[in-house]
Amino acid sequence: MPFSDFVGQAHIIRFLEKGISSGRLSHGLLFSGPGGSGKGTLALLLAQAVNCGSRGQVPCGTCLSCRKAAGMNHPDVRIIARDGAHIKMEQARSLRQGAALPPYEGRKKVYIIDGAEDMTAPAANSLLKILEEPPSYLLFILLSSRPQQLLPTILSRCQALPFRPVPEEEIASYLLEKTGDMLPGEARTYASLAQGCVGKALLLYQDKEFAALREKAAAFLQDLADIKAEEAFPLAETLAGLKDPGLFLDLTLLYLRDILLYKRPHAVGRLYYADFETSLQKFTHIPDRVLLQVIKSVLAARNELAVPVNQKLVLGVMLLELKEVI
Ligand SMILES: [Zn+2]
Repeated sequence: MPFSDFVGQAHIIRFLEKGISSGRLSHGLLFSGPGGSGKGTLALLLAQAVNCGSRGQVPCGTCLSCRKAAGMNHPDVRIIARDGAHIKMEQARSLRQGAALPPYEGRKKVYIIDGAEDMTAPAANSLLKILEEPPSYLLFILLSSRPQQLLPTILSRCQALPFRPVPEEEIASYLLEKTGDMLPGEARTYASLAQGCVGKALLLYQDKEFAALREKAAAFLQDLADIKAEEAFPLAETLAGLKDPGLFLDLTLLYLRDILLYKRPHAVGRLYYADFETSLQKFTHIPDRVLLQVIKSVLAARNELAVPVNQKLVLGVMLLELKEVI
């Protein structure tokens, strides 16, 4: 896969391509960003690019070196990850021994350190010794979702490349292209919940239960209208028993937003639940004022669920509040 197929982070890719073509890529790079933002994928692409056998665009993705690196069979590309909770001294020691030897067959020896913030202090200090005077063939790519926890001395030796959230539309069009059979509204739903991370959108897409949860969220207002106030707590218990009640509320919020939007002209192309148009239509009689009140209650419950709480109580209170308006 060439760099151009990577979704988002164009600023980082430009920087890397420039560094590769000028031969002035820093020996220590720090990719920082949340889980699912593509740090590992881009690191592996860079490992391919610096060792690619093609004379044209790198990485070509097809030469032997690229294929070996992509399949994690390249002797000069290594990934170091946590052993238990930490990256330990023994791992750093064997890294140092390996780094002292020139590449076996490539131009660069690449070490990708995944979860770099979880290096123990001795491991980090050992890595620092190599970063202080790296041989010309070495490339370290540190991956971190919490770069503020890295030793300042390590930070100062690395070129920091923070990943930016990928815009929702970019993730949605990537999903549409990749899957071929996804509805635009569905793609927008995944993209909206992915918080700028393509990897998160793909995880949701692969989650077999997600479609059912989305349908449940689309039916929620009707379910709410059908129950009596005394049934609020039993329903809360059912919702609290879902695999991810927070995700259910996120989906419900998207649905509520769609009702608001549906009442306005030219909204259809921007809906998350475009495939549930008949159900959206049923609720257009609800005044905006009431819908906004409902959104506020759901949003408050969603925020409370983000910290460890009694989920049944939070959801029960939310449902009682909603019963007063629906
Ligand atoms: Zn190649």
